[in-house]
Amino acid sequence: AEAVGKCISEAIVFKGRTLYANASIGLVLSSPNHFKAEEVLRDSDIAMYHAKDNRRSWSVFDRSMRARAVTRQQMETDLRYAIVCNELQLFYQPIVNLATMKLHGFEALLRWKHPRKGMIQPGDFIPLSEDTGLIVPMTLQALENACGQTVKWQQQYPGHEYLSMSVNLSGKHFADPALVEQVENILKETAIDPQCVKLEITESSTMEDAENAIGKLNQLKQAGVRLSIDDFGTGYSSLSYLRRLPVDTLKIDRSFVSAMAEPGEDDEIVRTIMALAHALKLDVIAEGVENVQQLAILRRLGCQFGQGYLFAPPLPLDAVEKM
Ligand code: C2E
Ligand code: MG
Ligand code: MG
Repeated sequence: AEAVGKCISEAIVFKGRTLYANASIGLVLSSPNHFKAEEVLRDSDIAMYHAKDNRRSWSVFDRSMRARAVTRQQMETDLRYAIVCNELQLFYQPIVNLATMKLHGFEALLRWKHPRKGMIQPGDFIPLSEDTGLIVPMTLQALENACGQTVKWQQQYPGHEYLSMSVNLSGKHFADPALVEQVENILKETAIDPQCVKLEITESSTMEDAENAIGKLNQLKQAGVRLSIDDFGTGYSSLSYLRRLPVDTLKIDRSFVSAMAEPGEDDEIVRTIMALAHALKLDVIAEGVENVQQLAILRRLGCQFGQGYLFAPPLPLDAVEKM
């Protein structure tokens, strides 16, 4: 298997471009549990996907892999059903202007209300939805609902005509050539002011194919929406690359905000991100603000916006309206 893998991974030059192909191989040792050839093929297929998921060139099947594959298959079926049956709900977490302490907008965060398993957090279903491509219909549904809801709130609550709504975009969806048109259609259908919509992407999702990403971000900017870099500081983008990204906002990752007020730690990283944002004329949102010490430091450093449990956790629709 190792030798075949090596052979396939050799560079191929095609029309002047160097291409690399990867191969993953699933191996299965025949056992008394295998009665038919189909069963051997099925298990080698499971082993092959195990190898792919773990970025290895080969894997040997064991029975725990089949149990995991069945659970995953069941979850995928449930997730397809969830999209059609509206089991996916948006929660909204307030984003606060730290200078005035007034509501600036919300970030829409998905939750899956599973009929048997209860509330499932995004960390437990977003990766599967990315692998299966379900992330695309899921995000489009989320974006449409979030935009529609924002327009309602803007009309319903005087003084909130410019309420903003942030929606997360997965790297997989970001790479989809249909994305810009899909976003434009939703903006049109919901009649939201595009300036009130912020799409959040992570550094890593723009870095896989940097030139393409800059083009895509520019097209989204032309559609009128604003762009944020989520979990900023956890990726590896260079300063020169960052300068070329047409984004409006950096969201400082929660890990830097929580470390800031701990004994023996200082605010150096957050201070540095603030200076960088200032030089690039970007807004900054601090994620995961949990206590007043953090709030005080952020305000002192001139951070414009904050989001975190200190203000409110992500809330369902009715709780937001009560608030
Ligand atoms: P994110 O976009 O960075 O969202 C912020 C996460 O931090 C949310 O977790 C939020 O509940 C949590 N959080 C907010 N304030 C605090 C705080 O003060 N303390 C702590 N400990 N946590 C806080 P959540 O909702 O579990 O979402 C996790 C991630 O899942 C999100 O990270 C985002 O990357 C992804 N996600 C959520 N909804 C969507 C979606 O609609 N589409 C996509 N593509 N990804 C989504
Ligand atoms: Mg986010
Ligand atoms: Mg984040």
